[in-house]
Amino acid sequence: MGQKRVPGRHFDVDVVVVGGGNAALCAALAAREGGATVCVLERAPIEESGGNSRFTAGAIRFAYGGVDDLKRVMSDLTEAEIAATDFGAYTEDDFFEDMFQVTQYRADPDLVETLVRRSFDTILWLHGKGLRFVPIYGRQAFKVDGRFKFWGGLTVEAWGGGPGLVDRLSELCRAAGIDIRYGARAIDLLAPGGAVEGVRVRTAGRDEDLRAGAVVLASGGFESSAEMRARYLGPGWELAKVRGTRFNTGDGHKMALAVGASSAGNWSGCHAVGWDRNAPEFGDLAVGDGFQKHSYPFGIMVNARGERFVDEGADFRNYTYAKYGRVILEQPQQFAWQIFDRKVVHLLRDEYRIKQVTKVTAATLEELAGKLEGVDANAFLRTVEEYNAAVRADVPFNPNVKDGRSTAGLRIPKSNWANTIDQPPFEAYAVTCGITFTFGGVRIDGEARVKDEAMNPISGLFAAGEIVGGLFYFNYPGGTGLMSGAVFGRIAGRSAAAFARGK
Ligand SMILES: Cc1cc2nc3c(=O)[nH]c(=O)nc-3n(C[C@H](O)[C@H](O)[C@H](O)COP(=O)(O)OP(=O)(O)OC[C@H]3O[C@@H](n4cnc5c(N)ncnc54)[C@H](O)[C@@H]3O)c2cc1C
Repeated sequence: MGQKRVPGRHFDVDVVVVGGGNAALCAALAAREGGATVCVLERAPIEESGGNSRFTAGAIRFAYGGVDDLKRVMSDLTEAEIAATDFGAYTEDDFFEDMFQVTQYRADPDLVETLVRRSFDTILWLHGKGLRFVPIYGRQAFKVDGRFKFWGGLTVEAWGGGPGLVDRLSELCRAAGIDIRYGARAIDLLAPGGAVEGVRVRTAGRDEDLRAGAVVLASGGFESSAEMRARYLGPGWELAKVRGTRFNTGDGHKMALAVGASSAGNWSGCHAVGWDRNAPEFGDLAVGDGFQKHSYPFGIMVNARGERFVDEGADFRNYTYAKYGRVILEQPQQFAWQIFDRKVVHLLRDEYRIKQVTKVTAATLEELAGKLEGVDANAFLRTVEEYNAAVRADVPFNPNVKDGRSTAGLRIPKSNWANTIDQPPFEAYAVTCGITFTFGGVRIDGEARVKDEAMNPISGLFAAGEIVGGLFYFNYPGGTGLMSGAVFGRIAGRSAAAFARGK
């Protein structure tokens, strides 16, 4: 470590972690492992604790060489499952490629290097701590000739999904003697002489100062603040729905900037997806990520003008879903309908079958056109006619690979998985933009120390998770949020403990 906390100074606790999600809890465990006393401040009440991490499906991306590596992470994997599954491999090179390609080569190479190279080791660490992982059969694999085949590099999810992950991490923290305080909002960093020496905490309307040897900010993004969305993402973003927790209002960003932290990354960028048009303003834990509607690569999307507006089959949904929310937000009245026919409805993900869904069905396209609320019906029928005529029926359809079954001659092409829409019953689902998390944050170094604007570490301040800027730009490979939180949380916790204990 470059800098150390001066030994002998009195602090209430060695390390304070701000946040109660995956990054925070990983940081807390790592700090405890490093011998520190640790206090976790979670702004939410216990029943809503865990931030966006609780809302996830628990899908987590890491590099692996093949099924032998996976067996080390999923000790429950049976021989029968192994025989029935082609898990493939997802090498570090694949992970690097995905990170750079989806971020248009903007991602900070040092952060990506750490994320990718530490990913396998970190999932082993989590498993070693007592987390269980299982294959994601439902959403990331298709059955081909009687065998499941994984695609897209995302193979594993936490047992019990996001709630399972957060509850287990919290249990492990408590068992390790970590003090988790719920309903405790950090409102300021204590930094009298420029060095961070604790936080001011508001609990049930009362403020108190908690003096700490080091502070880890793991308080998520600013996606739940309409004001910050409009300010940084741009006009119109206040109209988006929030997919996850209502508690990520950018407190950590504001506190860090107030003590001179350098801002980094894509402050006007975010992860946002197609989300049920009638979903509530913030995420609903009873529904979790069920409001998302991610099977658009197998159909088409039309806007209020009855027109297609995006290449639904540009890539596997893992590589497009995170940026298509913005595209939907840009449509008139911020909505779209996803359209499917009988040939593909069996491919629709589970989220299409939840009861809180905005769906219409029809026996004819004309009937469907009349049911698509807010859509120019005649224009819609013309769009489908032109689209059907443009489908390259000579190329076989295969949902497991980028099949190249495209359209020919359309102004907005569909590059893969193009099927005519002509077999009833027809189904349509209304979506709007659901924001997942923001990309802009604070700059950290390889030890997760927050840097100031002169690029020097701010003494005593560390960060991990969504609040870190510089990893994601424009887009994001699915499953990387949890891994980023785990990798940098672990590093931040370890660094903070060493710093606070003067080692
Ligand atoms: C619906 C949905 C599905 C997703 N699915 C996946 C997936 O399957 N895989 C994946 O990798 N990623 C997924 N993501 C993204 C993922 O949730 C995030 O990238 C990841 O959970 C971020 O972890 P974090 O710990 O940084 O933030 P969070 O988990 O959001 O935690 C932030 C914490 O900080 C707390 N907090 C905020 N301000 C304060 C304050 N002032 N004081 C104290 N506490 C504060 C919040 O209450 C919260 O507990 C999904 C997100 C959503 C919304």
